[in-house]
Order: sequence, then structure tokens, then C-alpha cells
Amino acid sequence: MSSTIDHLEDVALGDTLLEARGVTKYFTSDSGMLAGLFGAQDVEAVDDVSFELLKGETFALVGESGCGKSTLARTILQLIEPTSGSIRFKGLELTETSNRQLRPVRRDMQIILQDPQASLNPRMKVGQIIEEPMKAHSLYGRADRRERAKELLDLVELDRSYYNRYPHEFSGGQRQRINLARAMSTDPDLIVCDEPVSALDVSVQAQILNTMRELQAEFGFTYLIISHDLSVVRYIADRVAVMYLGHIVELASKEALFEHTKHPYTSALLEAIPIPDPRSRDTRQPLEGDVPSPIDPPSGCRFRTRCPELIQPAGWALTEQEWDAVRSFVRGVKRRSFTLDETPGSDTSHTPSAVETAVDDAYFPEGRPSRVDDIVREACALIADDEWDEAKAVIESRIVEESICAQERPRYTVSTREDVPEANHFVGCHLYRDGAKDVSPARDGGTHRGRGGNALE
Ligand code: SF4
Repeated sequence: MSSTIDHLEDVALGDTLLEARGVTKYFTSDSGMLAGLFGAQDVEAVDDVSFELLKGETFALVGESGCGKSTLARTILQLIEPTSGSIRFKGLELTETSNRQLRPVRRDMQIILQDPQASLNPRMKVGQIIEEPMKAHSLYGRADRRERAKELLDLVELDRSYYNRYPHEFSGGQRQRINLARAMSTDPDLIVCDEPVSALDVSVQAQILNTMRELQAEFGFTYLIISHDLSVVRYIADRVAVMYLGHIVELASKEALFEHTKHPYTSALLEAIPIPDPRSRDTRQPLEGDVPSPIDPPSGCRFRTRCPELIQPAGWALTEQEWDAVRSFVRGVKRRSFTLDETPGSDTSHTPSAVETAVDDAYFPEGRPSRVDDIVREACALIADDEWDEAKAVIESRIVEESICAQERPRYTVSTREDVPEANHFVGCHLYRDGAKDVSPARDGGTHRGRGGNALE
């Protein structure tokens, strides 16, 4: 009888090592802590995500905490069972492979966790820690395991004599090197690194990342890096996928993503990177609002509740300036951020016309566009009665939900460079719908392919 390993194909450098299609992970009331927090509803942690990992590349998943990137990585590794979707690793469909059959596959997929302290057993010596995965997969005899552990210490630039020491004797950077040696011990094709350097000092981060790159160049494994830190990603990644509320919103080569940023959310993330020059005047605008709940995510584009670029409804034909004013009004109502004149000695209620005057002064000094006249009037009447939530609902249903941004999930590829057709850039934003290729699943399965191809620096 053939083993599972026999079903794994050899993959050449640059070819597809892992292909994820339509991967979805919902947590429900009987599946863990999140469900415990949110009750019996589905928490849409990862929703219909597709991408490929190529042999020998560094692929980064970035996004704010809670965007689903760690859940996605654990789902890829089959540490969490996906709700639906396909994950093919070296040609083997993992979602149809039993846990017992997955055991030998796990040898090829290792993970390095964020906290180098917590992920090392304090009661085990460094040598035992590095040998543990080899032992678990019955690799090598005892003496060979010992020798391999020492060779791995060499490779991660630690002294062989550390073999008999305990983790607490080492710095954070050294401990992460031990983790790297352990992950490499089974000679894997894929190493998932969950925030691999975020717990370390900046000076140590660069040293660890350099070692990771050198080892990758020597052994050809693929890194899937999960990070919220775009500086780290810029340093180490070949390709980058940006996640927001369970969706990939942009995927491209590192150069394309950083030099030709397309998605408004990616732009906001880049804007948020601190400027190291103390002389520079920081005029950047922080992203407004909170990430919506993954229990009830927004329809269409999940970023639409915070997006400064929301597209005007079809057929409205407002000028750019008029639509800007309407968007500001929408944001103002949502945030309750405009002020109404208070008459001394009176109560705080206002007449609808007083609210309209305040709104026009704040948002429509050039005149209210006739297209939104009755909507503004209706919202102002509700605000005058202090019914802000109802006013928000009017704005939402009569303006925001009329936009394509609220109606369809955006999935397009655009060519970043016409001379390099394969350098496609996936962007989940309707601003790119004209002239772009729609890659919604109904048409081609929704896989975001594009090699990017830049070598490590
Ligand atoms: S689809 Fe609309 S809401 Fe979403 S990012 Fe693009 S412009 Fe913004």
C-alpha cells in the first residue's frame, strides 16, 4: 500500500507548492473561544480566500490584528479544519486527507511562533528541543539526530556547545534561532512564521531576518510570514497579501504593492508606518472608525464602512467635489461629528431647519446637490429629534448601500507592468473595475495568481 508521502509531488523552485482556493473558516458556537465570546452566531474569520505559495518564495500575509491572517495560516496547516475550500500541498488535497494520513505531510510543513520564550519548553535542553520533531517523525537514528541538531545550531549561527543548555539561558533573538533550527530539523518545504520577530528588539529583528533569508537561499524552502509590521514585510517578502476582515484585499509582488499601491486599505496601512525622521511634519490621516464585527461583516467590500474612496451610486453623476461633500456628510453623521449651535438657556433640541443650516454650513457651503436634497432633509429631521441611529440608517440605505461598493464583492486583477504580463496585481476594490480582469469565483475560481518574482535582496 502506498503512503501519503508517495502522493506528494516533487516541486521545482518557483512552481506552485501550495494552492488555496476559496478557503473559508467560520467559527460557530461549538468551535472555541471566539464563539464563546460572540454567542451562537457564525464568526466569519476567513471568507473565500484564494492564493498560491511558490516553492522558494517568501509570501507575507499582513493586516491589523483580528483580520484573519493567523486563522488562515493555521487553516492552511490543517491545525484548524476549514469550513470549506480546497488546499492542495504538493499536489495532495489536504482537506480530504485524514489526520492519520496527514502526519507524514506535517513533516514538510513547520511553524515558528511569535513568542520565542513561550514556544520553547523550559524543562528541555536545546538539543532535545531541536531533535523533538525528528523524533516525532521517526527520522534518523539517535546519534544522527544528535549530530543533525548540532549542524542545525551551526546553521542558525549558534554555538554547538549550546546543545546541552536550557532555553532560559538565551536572549530572545537566540531563542528564535533555536526555534528556526527546530523548524528546519525535518527538512520542510514550508515554514509558517507567525510574527517571527515582533517580540524582538529592532536591531535583533534584522539579524534574524537575514539568517532566515540566507537559509532560504541555501535550502529553498518557502516562508509564509504573518505580520502586522509592514517594515518587516518590506524587508523580507517576495509577494504580499493584505487582509482585511477575513478577505484578501490586495496581492502583488512586494515592489508592486509598495510602489504601486492600489487598495485604499493598503494605502492607509502604509500611511500608518511611523516616519523615522524627527524633522518631518507628520500630516498623515489615521484610518477612521473601527473594524466591523466579523459576525456581521459589511456587504460587498468589507472595507466600505471606513473607506475614504467610497464610489458614488450608479447614475448619480455628481461632480467629484459634490461627491466628496456627500461622503464627508456620511462620515459626519456616522461619527456624530458636526456641531449644532446651542442657544444659551434653551434645551438641546433643534428644529430640522436649524440642523439643515448646520449641515449645509459644514458640508455643503457651495450648495447641496439636488440628488441628495431629500435624503439630507430626512436625516436632518431625525437628527433634530435626536434620532441619530435612525439618521444613520437612512444615510446607509439611501446613499451607501446604493454604491457598488456595498453591492458586490470586488475582485479584479490589473497589470502592474504591461511588459511583464504575469506580474498581475490582485485588487479587491471597485475603483479598478474598468479595464481590469474580474477574477470572481464564478469566472475562474478566484485564485489570485501572479508571481512577482523578485529575488531576495
Ligand atoms: S470597493 Fe469601494 S469601499 Fe471598497 S475599497 Fe474600493 S472604493 Fe473603497
